[in-house]
Formats: sequence, structure tokens, C-alpha cells
Amino acid sequence: MNRRRFLIKSGVLIGLAGAGVAYWPNRWRHIVIHHSAGDFATIEFLQQVHRERQGGDPIDAIPYHYVIGNGNGIGMGEVTSDWRRDLNIWGTHLSENNKAKNFLGIGICLVGNFEETDVPAKQFEALVGLTKSLMHTYGIPPTNIDFHGLIEGESTKCPGRRFPYAEFRKAIV
Ligand SMILES: [Zn+2]
Repeated sequence: MNRRRFLIKSGVLIGLAGAGVAYWPNRWRHIVIHHSAGDFATIEFLQQVHRERQGGDPIDAIPYHYVIGNGNGIGMGEVTSDWRRDLNIWGTHLSENNKAKNFLGIGICLVGNFEETDVPAKQFEALVGLTKSLMHTYGIPPTNIDFHGLIEGESTKCPGRRFPYAEFRKAIV
């Protein structure tokens, strides 16, 4: 290869790598809301649950990108995450039926079981704040905000019948 062709080829490769570097952390197109279905959680606890349920996941982290506490294990309204979020790794918060949404969807989990209890106001406010900020950062439209159990192909009640769906939809626009 002559020098000129080498330089052009290298430039193209560097450009592609650059695009990849920009693509990876900015590819998020969906946000999916979950509940933990239990009234206690820490990152370690959720990690352990994930190991037991999806032992085949090579990513030994929580399946979601963010967790919002309820004051039991994680502070009330406290937003936390682990290295899945830090490295922008795909989620494993949806089933195999929704691979694209796992890859392009940020998973947010509220600690609690909203089949049984209401979402505390402070936790709800934190969810609205986090969702709006992610929508702003990645340009995600309100139509791409999903609830786990309402996604086609998923069979779960997550995030629960007492989750305030309409109120949340109103709050994020
Ligand atoms: Zn869920």
C-alpha cells in the first residue's frame, strides 16, 4: 500500500472508531420503568437476585441502569447505579423477546412492590427528575418511555397496578 492510500485508510478507520466511541454512550433510545417487587434492596442484593435468576449473564451487575431507593436499603428517593451504567452496557431488564429494547433501553428500577403499595411521593419525584434528565440528555421522546409489563412480549405486572401511570406520563412532558 502506498503512503497516500495508507493515510486515507487510516483516516477512515480512525473516523469509524471515533463514530463508535460517540455512538456507544449515546445510543440510548428508550427508557423502561420497573419495580423491584420487594420492599428492600441494595445494589449487592439486586446483584445477587440477578445472579440467581440469570446466571448466564456475563455482566455481573444489576440488570438495570438505575435504582431509586425507598428508604429501605437505599435512601428514599436516592438514585444509584453500578458499572453497567458507568460503561453504558446493555440492560438485561427485559426478556429475550425484547433484545433491541435491552440494548437501546435504559432500565430504571424503583425499590418497592407497587402491586401492593403506592409509590412514595419522594421516590416518584426522583423518578420524574431522572427520567426527564435522561430524555433531555439523549433526546428520547415521551413515546419511548415504557413500562415493563406493558411492552409486547413481556409477561409481568411490573411496575405494578398501583404505579401512577397517567400521572407519570403527565409529569414528564
Ligand atoms: Zn420489570
